[in-house]
Amino acid sequence: MSRTSVALLGATGSIGTQTLEVLRREPERFELTSIAGGSGNLERLIEIAKEFGVNRIGVPTNACRDLVMTAMPGVSVLVGDEGLSELASSADTVVNAVVGFAGLPVTLSALEAGKRLALANKESLIAAAPLVERVRHTPGAELLPIDSEHCAIHQALAGASKAEGFPDVRRLVLTASGGPFRGWASEALDQVTKAQALAHPTWAMGPKITIDSSTLMNKGLEVLEAAALFGIEVDRVDVVVHPQSIVHSMVEYVDGSVIAQLSKPDMRLPIAYCLGMPERLDHSWGAMDFQTPFSLEFLPPDTQNFPALTIAYEAARLGGAAPAWLSAANEVAVAAFLNDQISWRQIVETVAETLALYEPVTLTSLTELLAADKRAREVATANLPR
Ligand code: NAD
Ligand code: MG
Repeated sequence: MSRTSVALLGATGSIGTQTLEVLRREPERFELTSIAGGSGNLERLIEIAKEFGVNRIGVPTNACRDLVMTAMPGVSVLVGDEGLSELASSADTVVNAVVGFAGLPVTLSALEAGKRLALANKESLIAAAPLVERVRHTPGAELLPIDSEHCAIHQALAGASKAEGFPDVRRLVLTASGGPFRGWASEALDQVTKAQALAHPTWAMGPKITIDSSTLMNKGLEVLEAAALFGIEVDRVDVVVHPQSIVHSMVEYVDGSVIAQLSKPDMRLPIAYCLGMPERLDHSWGAMDFQTPFSLEFLPPDTQNFPALTIAYEAARLGGAAPAWLSAANEVAVAAFLNDQISWRQIVETVAETLALYEPVTLTSLTELLAADKRAREVATANLPR
């Protein structure tokens, strides 16, 4: 049996590292042929290349390329967005584990080239949904979600009618841990520190998504992600807080039946699901223990203290480039928070103010999307409190 070639773009991050663990376990099935990463962790990127014998490496700048070529003469080093696009077009399966809008070339190129795209990078799908829709039907192309909620829904939809718009599905129900500040009083939220916001109760993840989880913007983005992935209206996507992060999401059918997917929180499970499809890989990541008693809770989200969710639905209803504006403004605000420029509360305030200034465009081309992303970042930056 020939091995499936895998390109892992965003190899040094949280999802990247966990994808490597899955690959290490399945050397007969998968061959890692390309990796890419940002400028922050080149040494780790080189280590990965050496361990897996990878000879195609993507980096963001020429300076990074020179460093990698000095350390590993003979490998081919590809630079920038073009490099990411080329790497995403040249493996059977592409894992997009890049963080933020920077992952866009990976998403579009993998689908255009008819590859399987195992997508962790939700930001690219949210911003580019109409463009993704055009390329995802390329022969051979497959879009599988690594994001645990969407992977759960993918599994829970297995028995659904395949007709467009899922006629026998009433709604998708995304679960949210509620983040570290669930139940906090409004006054306490004014005093949130960076360390507190970076301490997620159930998942260990990269800094950007950890902050997004603390504001519930991650769940807002995931509502948009679900609508784009499954081609369903946002009004049929609901959110319920579930602090244990055991039920990863649910599908409610029109007869009232609810199908859920459960496991302990472990991203290696959805990663392995996306890599192995249609086969299930035999491993115990996330395996449940029903011998020790435990309880599961479900409660409605607190949209008063966590307005991000409401704002995300608004962006969805505005359509066009509004989701791209939401996501871009959020990236700017989260970076400013991590840089100690603004307070935790001001993250979502900045996003709301930016979205209020949204300049409507219908997204029909990549040029329009890149312009919208740039403009949203300018507006968000100008609106950062000083
Ligand atoms: P992370 O910060 O840990 O890793 C990000 C990776 O992207 C790193 O390898 C970094 O080097 C790379 N990168 C950054 N800029 C780049 C660029 N310009 N070119 C190439 N590579 C670049 O982030 P993460 O937590 O692994 O998250 C990655 C994506 O997966 C995000 O979109 C996140 O929302 C999504 N996601 C993550 C988790 C999780 O458990 N970590 C769960 C669900 C979804
Ligand atoms: Mg998620």
